[in-house]
Amino acid sequence: MGTDRLPTGIPSVDRLLGGGLETDSVTEVYGEGGSGKTLFCLEVAHRVARENRWVFYIDTEGVSVDRLRSMAGDGLEKLLKRFLLSTPKDLDEQTAAVRTACSLAREGRRAVGLLVVDSATAYYRLSLSGPGEDDARQALSLEISDLVLTALRAHVPVLITNQVWRSLRDGHLEPLGGSFLNHAAKTILFFERLPGPRRRVVLMKHRDRPEGSAEFRITERGLESAGSG
Ligand code: ATP
Ligand code: MG
Repeated sequence: MGTDRLPTGIPSVDRLLGGGLETDSVTEVYGEGGSGKTLFCLEVAHRVARENRWVFYIDTEGVSVDRLRSMAGDGLEKLLKRFLLSTPKDLDEQTAAVRTACSLAREGRRAVGLLVVDSATAYYRLSLSGPGEDDARQALSLEISDLVLTALRAHVPVLITNQVWRSLRDGHLEPLGGSFLNHAAKTILFFERLPGPRRRVVLMKHRDRPEGSAEFRITERGLESAGSG
């Protein structure tokens, strides 16, 4: 069986991805604060829920409902009926939330159209400076493996976001989470801030698409294609 695609609803990004997010693998979005990672997750989630499929959404920033309200307006209540939302407050809660979402998705009782973890690494970053670094790294690896298996077995596209750090060597922005995360995600997108509401999406890794980039614009109601991409 070939890999299906879930359209993001942003034409420039869908062209870049050859139709949308792969439905049997993990897509990682990384970028600076304000680059649009959360808005992108919500844009895709909004679209999936509108089509009456379930969205399992793990939100470590606690912002999703307010943001969805501005996208959905009066339709918010109906939309939230298709959301299984969890807002973990620390790494342990995140681990439990991911485990639950993965097992429910694999159980197959609900028609799940998307699983989001935004952010997969924010709590992990907090743990990096403490004595629990090894445990945090291991917890993250287990979580990501669970997500990879869920995407593959349940055919649920998994979308995760990742924070960045700036390399002292050359000043580049690098994703957190090390090589494990980079191997686990089959598609990797880097979001860059451009002036005003414009953002660039750079395709850093894909199984069968050439490298390239696209643009979108942040508007009151969500994300729209921009530029020529
Ligand atoms: P972080 O890493 O901090 O979580 P992020 O990549 O998730 O950041 P978002 O929260 O998705 O970023 O993007 C927020 C950006 O969108 C901010 O720059 C904000 O100013 C902008 N923004 C949010 N709503 C609107 C709007 N209605 N019109 C224009 N810009 C907006
Ligand atoms: Mg965010």
